[in-house]
Amino acid sequence: VTYLADPTRYDARSDGTATFRRTGRSGLVLPAISLGLWHNFGDGRPLETQRAILRRAFDRGVTHIDLANNYGPPYGSAESNFGTIYAQDLRPYRDELILSTKAGYDMWPGPYGQGGGSRKYLLASLDQSLARMGVDYVDIFYSHRFDPDTPLEETMGALDTAVRSGKALYAGISSYSGERTREAAAILRDLGTPLLIHQPSYSMLNRWIEEDLLDVLGEEGIGCIAFSPLAQGMLTSRYLDGVPADSRAAQDTSLSPDLLTEQTLHHVRALNDMAAARGQSLAQLALAWALRDERVTSVLIGASSVEQLDDNLGALDHLGFDDDELKRIDEHAVE
Ligand code: NDP
Repeated sequence: VTYLADPTRYDARSDGTATFRRTGRSGLVLPAISLGLWHNFGDGRPLETQRAILRRAFDRGVTHIDLANNYGPPYGSAESNFGTIYAQDLRPYRDELILSTKAGYDMWPGPYGQGGGSRKYLLASLDQSLARMGVDYVDIFYSHRFDPDTPLEETMGALDTAVRSGKALYAGISSYSGERTREAAAILRDLGTPLLIHQPSYSMLNRWIEEDLLDVLGEEGIGCIAFSPLAQGMLTSRYLDGVPADSRAAQDTSLSPDLLTEQTLHHVRALNDMAAARGQSLAQLALAWALRDERVTSVLIGASSVEQLDDNLGALDHLGFDDDELKRIDEHAVE
């Protein structure tokens, strides 16, 4: 059946969806909640589930989809599966979408595909990503991580080339420290390609960006899209009563069940009670909290079902916090 996007997808609704925020001092806005395809979009997942999640996201105003060369498994399959669904459903809406991809981790055999930040690796990887996704360009191309063995000038030069060649519209970096971010921004500024956005991890269980990175981003006018704002599911109801067989902690090495210590679960349960008092799910509380600072442009979630996506988008109904709530959340921070 031909997909027709929900005509009300950008209407201001009481459910709060289609809320857009400006990316740093750029001209680009992003949805407050964006969707990432790191998990749940590999070859082991039914394409119909993937399609249902992507359609629902777009129907609710989620215009930004985030990928990387090695998302799957196997590597590359999330981009290929996205490409299949894009060709069937989303191609007519290309100009309503912000698509991103990255290179930085190991991807293909031999010295040029092992990750890092060389010009050779980044630009070859971008061409591969475009072919898998079946698009002429991505909106944002990221250096996925800082590479201490490659001059930063070389890595930023590759991002600049990606933009100048029209294969990407904007440049981004992921998981760089505050200091490296300042350096990267200065190099890109000199090259004439501003650094649009930084993609760091950030959640109530992982607050490293509050040390200095957020200040750097605010001062430099760079946007911030926070990945794993639900701590891969730990900040949801998923693990409150054990580890379900179909959950990430049971199925994937990226979330070790060892992280679900009694101490962490104690904090998570306290946060769950606070969410209930606000009339929210724990996931909604966690997302609203990560968006409380206006320097955070968007939170980048994952979802293994349409129900999870809907639950998460419900966060936009109630974003505000009073000082007492924030203080109590700080008391439940886990370092
Ligand atoms: P989250 O912290 O949002 O975790 C998503 C997982 O949490 C889901 O797969 C699901 O797990 C569970 N979940 C989500 N919503 C709910 C809900 N409402 N109720 C119960 N459980 C829920 O983010 P991810 O770790 O998936 O990362 C999001 C995106 O960020 C990635 O897809 C990627 O685009 C980006 N990313 C970037 C990185 C980088 O280095 N730049 C690194 C990591 C991520 P389950 O499968 O158990 O159902």
